[in-house]
Amino acid sequence: MSLSPIPIHLATNTCWLLPLDENDSWLLVDAGPDVISQSSPEFSWNLLCAQLAQHELIPSNIKKVLITHEHIDHAGLASRWAKEGATILVHPEAISTLTKGIKTFEDDRENRFSYLVQRGVPSSIVDEIKSQTDTNSMRWIPCPETALHPISDQQEIMLRNHETLVIHYAPGHTRGNLVAVTSNSKLLFSGDTVLEHTIPTAGLHLDRESLDAFEPVQHWPSLPLFIQSVKKLAQTDIQVIYPGHGTAIYDPDKAFNRFIHHHSKRAEKVTTASETVGTDNPYLIAKHMFPRLGNRRLAQAMIEIIGHQDLKQAQELN
Ligand SMILES: [Zn+2]
Repeated sequence: MSLSPIPIHLATNTCWLLPLDENDSWLLVDAGPDVISQSSPEFSWNLLCAQLAQHELIPSNIKKVLITHEHIDHAGLASRWAKEGATILVHPEAISTLTKGIKTFEDDRENRFSYLVQRGVPSSIVDEIKSQTDTNSMRWIPCPETALHPISDQQEIMLRNHETLVIHYAPGHTRGNLVAVTSNSKLLFSGDTVLEHTIPTAGLHLDRESLDAFEPVQHWPSLPLFIQSVKKLAQTDIQVIYPGHGTAIYDPDKAFNRFIHHHSKRAEKVTTASETVGTDNPYLIAKHMFPRLGNRRLAQAMIEIIGHQDLKQAQELN
């Protein structure tokens, strides 16, 4: 009998339910976002329970929750699952973020802005971005470390019908990013590593050691690793992709190739723009490449350009 993962839709996220080898026990891929609404602080939890009920399940049937990566919309409900007694499986690199929850990003906020200034964004523009505060409808409550169970590359989880879920460490989108593949049916649970309609960002990840040492803030070069992770998956036998947003992807090669093609084109454009502008200042390159973008999106584009500079440097070293 083939395995068909059950989707649980929460805001723009999709979590996937898989049967474990013990009776009535299930694994959930991603905890889901903790969305609160005006009428209910339990908005997404209630929505989740209603969807479980459609399959005659209750939260205590979920024994394991596998966190694909340490982002608020994928791990926001981890503490809630821990309260229900589930084991939260997470890559060791993601543990400190889960135990801090929203505080991780609050603590990093100023450092991220000073990093942008350091990389060439005028302070007046950073001040403007700072003033555009997000109205936050998501919580991220810290998860007790005792509920977190580290899991890493090639570890296996037994599923029903003699299937095994194999963990693959796939750093890039975050440091503690993982994906999982079923051994027989070759289903890939991709989190945000591969999506159908968008190219997931490699983001800006500040380097902890440089922060702790109060040195000029460095970043962790995520894009070269991200591309490497996707290329490795593209060479793996995958039949269907179950992403962290949207629905099942039945043409895995198309999704992998879209990502790889996007970055090879982008690399060429960054090189050309850098030569035209005559600088490697990522802010000026971004302004040249995307003259119509508003300042906030320009800063995001600049982070992708920094990623491509990292990539070029990594290629030159090889
Ligand atoms: Zn993400």
